[in-house]
Amino acid sequence: MEALIENVVIAPPIEALREGLETTEERSLGPEGPSYSDTGEKAVAQGGVAQGDVAQGFSPEDSAAIAGSSETPRTETPAEKNPWSAWAWLGLCRTREAKTLGPEGPSHSVRIPNIVHVDVDAFFASVEQVLNPKLRGKPVLVGRGCVASASYEAKFLGVKTAMGFREALRICPQAIVVPGQYEHYADFAERVRRILETYTPAVETAALDDFYLDFAGTGRLYPDYQATLHRLQAEIFGRTGLNVSIGAARTKVVASIASRLERPRGFRMIAPGDEENFLTPLPVEKLHGIGHVHAGALAERGIATIGQLRQVPKPALQAAFGEVIGLQIWERAHGLDGREVLLPSTPKSVSRETTIEGGTIDTEFLSGLIEYLSERIGSTLREYGKQARTIGLRIRYVDHFSAHQTVRLTKPTNDERELLAAANDLFGKLFTRRVAVRLAGVSVHNLETDKRQHELFDTNANRRWYLNRGLDSVRGRYGWNAVFYGKGLELREHYATKPNGLVLSTPCLSR
Ligand SMILES: [Mg+2]
Repeated sequence: MEALIENVVIAPPIEALREGLETTEERSLGPEGPSYSDTGEKAVAQGGVAQGDVAQGFSPEDSAAIAGSSETPRTETPAEKNPWSAWAWLGLCRTREAKTLGPEGPSHSVRIPNIVHVDVDAFFASVEQVLNPKLRGKPVLVGRGCVASASYEAKFLGVKTAMGFREALRICPQAIVVPGQYEHYADFAERVRRILETYTPAVETAALDDFYLDFAGTGRLYPDYQATLHRLQAEIFGRTGLNVSIGAARTKVVASIASRLERPRGFRMIAPGDEENFLTPLPVEKLHGIGHVHAGALAERGIATIGQLRQVPKPALQAAFGEVIGLQIWERAHGLDGREVLLPSTPKSVSRETTIEGGTIDTEFLSGLIEYLSERIGSTLREYGKQARTIGLRIRYVDHFSAHQTVRLTKPTNDERELLAAANDLFGKLFTRRVAVRLAGVSVHNLETDKRQHELFDTNANRRWYLNRGLDSVRGRYGWNAVFYGKGLELREHYATKPNGLVLSTPCLSR
């Protein structure tokens, strides 16, 4: 009985392969195939069930393909030598994947455009429209001073992101202006990310509303890849009310161009091998890394499209734009991009910065702000289990003069008191002019995994560690504002509070 079960359950796919190969053996190598002995025949002979499964698993085309390939003699693969090895199973997976994913022909059958770029359309304005139904279908501008985000109703009239409000309102006087609520945007971005993570674990947050996904190896999970991406787009809309544009390709650079081509609700898949045809007619500005200056320089030399740019040899681009940028432009023009989708657990740096409306010269207020930013950074570092080696501070005065300096910490840390001490030192060095400060930002770099051990002699460090852990858990439960350091309390007089922090003027969008 046991033997029968073994044969029925385990044997079919292997047998199917073997059966196909047996014909191969007979034709090319002769009937005395080394490893195909009695066990295989027994399994097929013993049960109609096994035979039935074989028929289901492999279509006539498959057997034809196997038989066809046998016309020319060939050497045995590891899978054939030992059909019970892991290689045999991998071989089977590959055969089936190729069959299910390859409707377009042999060159497209092996790989799918696995990198997917998902971008929320007119993110801030769309969130405002979701939260306030009165804004739906109307031109909405979000920002203070300049347009941080414009709804498509406004964009169709000619309003562009980063345009000054005066000009935007001249073009579109009926537009409704809202100041923006960062906390809601962060919340919506998080909701979108969670939906994406139900499709693949490899989700990278490139910006607040910009995501890269990697679907490599999901062929068996999603036999109809295109339909899956359409479902993803529909699910995000259904659950958050936000429209997203999707681009799929083999590299990040092509995927992001594809997603941005047909917004809003764009959907574009670039089949492997089609990248060149896709990129050729596009203007050079579409390439990531080519701004107005580079585009202007290229236009002077009569290069307007990516196809024309591709004709330029690599050394010429490097001579014109420098080694690194030239190489990058050359690679991107060819659709090459070695960047992988980074998993969210590996931030390279953390920064927080904010502008101060009208500017201020009040050092108490500024140091309170720096304390708040340092606290936020310390908390983010602990959330990711990271410690920082380097800290930087940036201030910009109202007259646009700015100063920036970084310093290496004596030991890596994620304790906000240590971060704050370093940031305050930097502030003392940088704040040298009697001019109001308009922007303050703290950033940390050179992150390392938090490998903290209890300090034997520095009991203060241990106390800090327990205090921070307590702070994090209280804030996790009752919101950021449940606990404040002294200077943070002062900030409350200037800024409104939300459950997850203060409402700063322009909170940094980077993570
Ligand atoms: Mg967007």
